[in-house]
Amino acid sequence: MSVFPDAKILDIDLSKGTIDTKSLPGEIYRLYPGGSSLGLYLALQEMGAGIDPLSPENMLIFSVSVLTGLPISGQSRLNITTKSPLTGTIGDSQSGGFFPAQLKINGYDAIIFRGQSEKPVYLYIDGEKVVLKDASSVWGKVTGEAEKMIKEELNDQQLEIAQIGPAGENMVKYASIMNMSNRANGRNGTGAVMGSKHLKAVVVKKGKARKAEDQEGFKSLTGNVKERIIENEGIEALGKFGTDGELNGHNRDGFLPTHNFSSGYFGDKAKKITGTTMAKTILKGRDTCFSCAIRCKRVVEVEGKVDPFYGGPEYETCAAFGSYCLTENLEDIAVANQYCNMYGLDTISCGATIAFVMECMEKGIMTKDDVDDMDITFGNGSVYPELIKKIALREGIGDMMAEGSYRMAEKLGPEALPLSVSVKKQELPAHMPQYKPAVGLIYAVNNFGADHQSCEHDPFLTMPADAKEQVWLGMLGINLQYDEQKTLDDGKVRFAIAGQKFYSMMDTLCLCQFSWGPSWQLYGPAELVDACKYGIGWQTSVQELMDIGERRINMMRWFNVRDGFSAKDDVLPERIFDPMPNGPSEGHQMLKDDFEKAKESYYGFMGWDQDGKPREATLKRLSLNWLLD
Ligand code: SF4
Repeated sequence: MSVFPDAKILDIDLSKGTIDTKSLPGEIYRLYPGGSSLGLYLALQEMGAGIDPLSPENMLIFSVSVLTGLPISGQSRLNITTKSPLTGTIGDSQSGGFFPAQLKINGYDAIIFRGQSEKPVYLYIDGEKVVLKDASSVWGKVTGEAEKMIKEELNDQQLEIAQIGPAGENMVKYASIMNMSNRANGRNGTGAVMGSKHLKAVVVKKGKARKAEDQEGFKSLTGNVKERIIENEGIEALGKFGTDGELNGHNRDGFLPTHNFSSGYFGDKAKKITGTTMAKTILKGRDTCFSCAIRCKRVVEVEGKVDPFYGGPEYETCAAFGSYCLTENLEDIAVANQYCNMYGLDTISCGATIAFVMECMEKGIMTKDDVDDMDITFGNGSVYPELIKKIALREGIGDMMAEGSYRMAEKLGPEALPLSVSVKKQELPAHMPQYKPAVGLIYAVNNFGADHQSCEHDPFLTMPADAKEQVWLGMLGINLQYDEQKTLDDGKVRFAIAGQKFYSMMDTLCLCQFSWGPSWQLYGPAELVDACKYGIGWQTSVQELMDIGERRINMMRWFNVRDGFSAKDDVLPERIFDPMPNGPSEGHQMLKDDFEKAKESYYGFMGWDQDGKPREATLKRLSLNWLLD
């Protein structure tokens, strides 16, 4: 490939029922080569400030990348870009599976949905044949049922389907977009935007596999993948125990979010919900994404209770429905996971909102009368199926809970506000800033609310100088090693920023962090440069890739600044600054002054002013001059 490929984009106006195709020239596409960056570029070209996220004016953009669909692990990720109804900021979310690869194999880099259909529809894509179809019969169905019906209607069992469940239809603020009925674009409520447009699903036909441009060169990366996995303990464990394999370590160190983040220690009960316990009890098998050899996805079964079709819980889900809510019953957690996947809900925000209500009940801020006489108390996981259904259908207390914990707290009054553990109204994932302050900083400044997949995590820096983690950092010009991971200083800020740019680039190239991310490193940055060269003939460098990541962060920031977001929104919940009350971390405290100083340094290192706005010179350096216009 001597020139960068053009991007092919479907542009669908759901109000008019029109389907257009347009292309983005390669010289522009190279600056925003897919995923989140491509979505942002398209959104910022057209969407002004002040748009209601659930109005027809909001754009909903599906995008993949130049690398998606190549025969290598960790390249099949779908990015969704839209304005988030949960946070009011730019909305951004990724999922894996087979849908993303098949969308690219069908020839498309992105789909823009605009407007609002009068009746429920779904989009069917078979190469050049792209049609909107009536979705009235599947509207209101849970994901598994809708998937089955669509496959029968189109007489094709191999279709890949990304869809919303009833939660998206009812515009629950943290509704997800599901593919395979068990892979979620979970965060930021992108499913609610899809619901507001009366778009039930996007369906793609299975196409012929994509080939690397230089197949021999590409084989140098993929030919020895089994050996790479065996040699890499972390990757092997990830395959065996899934992401929930890390729960035990967090608890052992006293930083597993517990009791709605008021503690970091779940005691011996944590053992009952770890990935190891899951492997010994309800695990039925392992699943994967397109062409991925790691196979980290869980498939669980509990007879009469949990259907393996809906996959299995990951670490975040086990913590949100487990330790956040003091639930030690793994089967209850697996049921909650299934209900979230059936109804299309983000498991993190859903579990955290339930934990918030449990604490409101505990503190007497809410009573049984407020919650339809249900027993929503800490430790009672048996309440999950009924409660999740109520949230998705906005029935009874479910209607209030469908708004998320922050909006609930605003209604309940000042004593409830500290119990919503959220940033920019999005509930915190299961990594405690007190333990991982660099992650905490990124939670606060992240442009779409608290997110654990937007930077590298602090334990990375405590690795020995010759560890692969340190080699990775060295490639980015950072030479740091800490004995104590809880420190927050300027070195940590630089580390957080380097990681943020790298993860931002991965969300642009739609790469899975478990295959390509710094921690696990099935493939490192040097191999990524090779994958671009052998895969599509793109001669790139680590520096170009990092610039791509930085460009995306600045585009997101600009999107938010236009809507009035600033440093005042880059905050952490008050509870995070309390001393840890018990367990191995007892007495440890994250100091607010350290956090505020780190935030100032972050803005400075990023080339932003102290109100968190990118400076003109920064935008120009990143070829983002057009934003100033
Ligand atoms: S590592 Fe896991 S999540 Fe990532 S692509 Fe492979 S199977 Fe999917």
